[in-house]
Amino acid sequence: MLTDYHLHLRPDDDDAPGERYFTVENIDRYLAAAAAAGIEELGVSEHVYRFRQALDLWQHPLWVENAHDDLDEYCEFVRGTPLKLGVECDFVPGAEARTAELLERREFDYVVGSVHFIGEGDSAVDHDGFDVWEGSEDPDEIWRRYFESLAECARSGLFDILAHPDLVKIWGGARPLPQRDLRSFYEPAVEAIVAGGIAVELSTAGLRKPVGELYPARGFAELCVEAGVPFALSSDAHLPEQVGFEYDRAVEFLDSLGVDEICVFEGRERRLVPLGNRVS
Ligand SMILES: [Zn+2]
Ligand SMILES: [Zn+2]
Repeated sequence: MLTDYHLHLRPDDDDAPGERYFTVENIDRYLAAAAAAGIEELGVSEHVYRFRQALDLWQHPLWVENAHDDLDEYCEFVRGTPLKLGVECDFVPGAEARTAELLERREFDYVVGSVHFIGEGDSAVDHDGFDVWEGSEDPDEIWRRYFESLAECARSGLFDILAHPDLVKIWGGARPLPQRDLRSFYEPAVEAIVAGGIAVELSTAGLRKPVGELYPARGFAELCVEAGVPFALSSDAHLPEQVGFEYDRAVEFLDSLGVDEICVFEGRERRLVPLGNRVS
């Protein structure tokens, strides 16, 4: 079995209302792309900040600018399609109870938990307009803050899948690497992942970014395997053409780690199924 659970129905820079993309025609394009790639399980996980309800969690300027859609209408729409229903929800420190309420009130199959913004600050590791690297040149500090937030996210118990687990590396050689051994960032994160019982996403999105690598890096993934953490497989596609993006590399990577099962979700219950092969 192959899955693609971390999918968006439109590009991030498109601020057209959701109705334009929450259509049967659009879903059919994703389904056709999945069928062509041999992916049996497809799920959609729109960014929580696209929905008005997200403003109960946080009023970040980017969220205020983007929160136009209704979360319940989205859920209802996805329920009427063959896709699993998910959402990509940021971990917002201090908003854990409100996040739990927002998620528990809806019948998601899974929730993808992510860290884009670090600490309690407004700046993000992957957004140009809110770049954490602006005015801060200390990579050890940025990586420390990112991995602390990631650990909190994993440990919170709010989410089923930990998205793009080393997103901080997104800019690749365009930003300096920390001096410290990267294992010293990974180890406490893996401890938190185990404690939180969350699955880790193997995401091919990093292959489309300046870093040109899978998330997570091999060193991180190896620690996950040693700790018995299960993987969920996704492309983080924002267009139908990106469904199953570079999955041959993802499958090969998992294979090389000795991972032969991946997670599937239904009603926020997780189960492991044998990892399949990409049809190419
Ligand atoms: Zn994300
Ligand atoms: Zn995403």
